[in-house]
Amino acid sequence: MTEKRDYYEVLGVSKDTPKAEIKKAYRKLALKYHPDRNKSADAEEKFKEISEAYAVLSDDEKRSQYDQFGHAGINGKYNWEDIYRNTDFASIFRDIGFGGFGSIFDMFFGGGGHRRNGPRKGQDMRYDIEITLEDATFGLEKEIDFQGFDVCETCHGSAMKPGTSSEKCPKCNGSGEIHVTRNLGGMYLRQVQTCAECNGRGFPSKNLCQTCNGSGATAGLQKLKLKIPAGIEDGNSLRLSGEGKPGYKGGPKGDLYVFVHVKPHKLFERRGDHILYEAQITFPQAALGTKIVVPTLYGDAKLKIPKGTQSGTVFRLNGKGLPHLNGWGKGNQFVNVVIETPKKLTKRQKELLNDLAKELKKE
Ligand SMILES: [Zn+2]
Ligand SMILES: [Zn+2]
Repeated sequence: MTEKRDYYEVLGVSKDTPKAEIKKAYRKLALKYHPDRNKSADAEEKFKEISEAYAVLSDDEKRSQYDQFGHAGINGKYNWEDIYRNTDFASIFRDIGFGGFGSIFDMFFGGGGHRRNGPRKGQDMRYDIEITLEDATFGLEKEIDFQGFDVCETCHGSAMKPGTSSEKCPKCNGSGEIHVTRNLGGMYLRQVQTCAECNGRGFPSKNLCQTCNGSGATAGLQKLKLKIPAGIEDGNSLRLSGEGKPGYKGGPKGDLYVFVHVKPHKLFERRGDHILYEAQITFPQAALGTKIVVPTLYGDAKLKIPKGTQSGTVFRLNGKGLPHLNGWGKGNQFVNVVIETPKKLTKRQKELLNDLAKELKKE
């Protein structure tokens, strides 16, 4: 996947820009880059980029997904065709005097000479997994069952009822597209639109495969070996290429995005690759010095408390943090030593403390 720019940056707006302003920003940019008007070489790319950003940011749900998970939150969850279908481009384009939805849809899906009824990549899918901090420390290999999709056995992904492959849509003659010529003030514009009769499939809708309802795929439980690398952080996602929905008409499979959630730990707090831990000791231990046992992700460790240690002193256990993801070395564990004041005392303990108090006063 190529590195995508931030959608807010693409539209030149900020994270708290209200919806109406986002629409205005898109309108302005669309007016500038619409390929009907802008003939520079990169106009179409630019137009695609702003339209994609607008499609996501103009929808509250998708915008919040994007705010939380970035591009992965969109790619893993939604189908791009649906996103474009549900975005109101038509009214904006009508306002600024350009072609409607058909042209932008064609530009993204199968425009530029590709046939609409040709092979298409399958949808991306999402899977969420919860792991422990220990799993995140050592990495995890796990076989999971997830509700995936197989190529439909009845139509083998063609979406057609078996034995009907020679029948073509009468309206588009099987190409899945309709050519329209529009007259724009003396300038003739030739546009290609998806055939409405067959939805771009190229064959009559009555011949849709009944098993898969024309999607070319059927739901099925799938087993998959997951490899979660050591050092992974809460909210990270892994992309498993080709584990999503089967493609249409032999197109490549979509991808599976695995979102990793790391459960909070009873003893440890994670800060990046470091671990924070609080150890309680008594006043005599702090005053006289001692050795204590401290739990770490790698088992118990001994920690020397020097005499005269103050409450709140932080000691470092080198290399007892998490491994750096995609790199060498590990973080550290930081032990915050807190002196515990006893709440209940025996008679003898009281006497001893009183004596100690008197001694300290004399000094
Ligand atoms: Zn089928
Ligand atoms: Zn047709």
